[in-house]
Amino acid sequence: MTEEFSKTYDRRTLKPGESIFLQGDLGDTAYLIEHGKVEISSQYLGQKKTLSTLGVGELFGEMALIDNQKRSATATALEDTRLISLNRNLFKKKIDSADPVLHLLLRVILKRFRHTLKDKVDATKLMQTGEFVASGQTIVFDQAQSEALVQIQLESDLQAAMLEKQFVLHYQPILNTTTYKIEGFEALIRWNHPTNGWISPADFIEAAENSDLIIPIGDWVIEQACSDLLKLQDKHGSEGAPLWMSVNVSPRQIQYLARDNRLSQMIKKSGAKPGALKIEITENALIESPEVIGAALSEIKSQGIALAIDDFGTGYSSLSYLHRFSMDVLKIDRSFIDDLTSNSMSRRIVRAITSLAKELEMTVIAEGIETRQALEELQAIGCDNMQGYLASRPVPIGDALIMVENKLDLITSQTAIESIHSYRTSA
Ligand code: C2E
Ligand code: CA
Ligand code: CA
Repeated sequence: MTEEFSKTYDRRTLKPGESIFLQGDLGDTAYLIEHGKVEISSQYLGQKKTLSTLGVGELFGEMALIDNQKRSATATALEDTRLISLNRNLFKKKIDSADPVLHLLLRVILKRFRHTLKDKVDATKLMQTGEFVASGQTIVFDQAQSEALVQIQLESDLQAAMLEKQFVLHYQPILNTTTYKIEGFEALIRWNHPTNGWISPADFIEAAENSDLIIPIGDWVIEQACSDLLKLQDKHGSEGAPLWMSVNVSPRQIQYLARDNRLSQMIKKSGAKPGALKIEITENALIESPEVIGAALSEIKSQGIALAIDDFGTGYSSLSYLHRFSMDVLKIDRSFIDDLTSNSMSRRIVRAITSLAKELEMTVIAEGIETRQALEELQAIGCDNMQGYLASRPVPIGDALIMVENKLDLITSQTAIESIHSYRTSA
């Protein structure tokens, strides 16, 4: 795991009556209630005064994120309670990496907030009534705040998932469109959540990208995919071209991987050949910041690692990008394939993209092939490779090894997938 990965979230479990913090303590942490109830109280003239009772989803102690001031109230668990701790460093990181305009705005707002708060802190009357503490400690959530809390909870779970090894890679075979031979695999991440079961990357990759977590998660994906690629190549034997592996990377990750040859070092350490790895980046990621991403891609390309443009056709990139970024592989998005057989416009688009890619000496992979008809169209068009449920869904490494070792014909043999399961149960 990367050294840059530092823990920013923590969970605390408390018994009824246990205190979370005391009035007058110094604090740098706010808390989000995941489970249970918390009482906020203050001491006034030796008497305890309950200011509020908070439940699941509520945030308290957030003033500590703004200033290193003393706690103005005491927080106590009323029942068995679980909290997510939000350290000030986490917010600092998020604010520092925010868009510059947002950054400025936050600083101005925080400054004003602190200013008004000072007045209030001095107003003993407010302290006596508890109004300030109550309003300072409790937030009534609006839509944006609720979304932020969901993100916090997800990031915290992702961090735990990383530490507790809950991620798994599945591999989807990529076939030659005419010979049906498996030429490579795409590594696709899944999250085996302890209570929610299997979670699709569509539901967590964005949250990982919005936080630093995409870096350690991405490193793990690369290391795992390289190590599994060696096993697959071993089963495949030396006949024909060596198998390759495609790995998805996010825009933030690509810049990190290009720095100090991190990606090629990782590949080297695994024992895999740089040329056997393809890095998939979506067309949209390229459009967002072509200069920065472009520089990172050329760096990676210069190490002999292949580049693939993913989901091609969904963004509005200019065709000259393909050339400019020296892409080796173009993956045609599933949306064109879906109606390849029924819509002549889609067919013409796929044909045009394929011939353009060939002119540029790129390999073309069509994604999301679910029917024989779609495959036949692709053969007629001359598209090199196909990937989709018609051949196989993404499968665990054990199944991928069986496919390779037994040279299973995933297209013509109706029983190929069943035979995987019979091999597995007889093994
Ligand atoms: P993608 O890169 O476009 O991956 C292809 C997606 O299409 C996969 O979904 C795959 O299971 C699905 N698929 C393949 N063949 C068919 C088919 O014939 N029909 C249909 N309907 N779907 C098919 P999955 O695994 O849910 O991944 C979703 C997306 O999450 C991926 O889209 C990719 O953008 C992202 N992702 C997956 N793994 C990683 C990862 O390790 N890192 C990053 N940054 N992103 C990842
Ligand atoms: Ca992909
Ligand atoms: Ca894709």
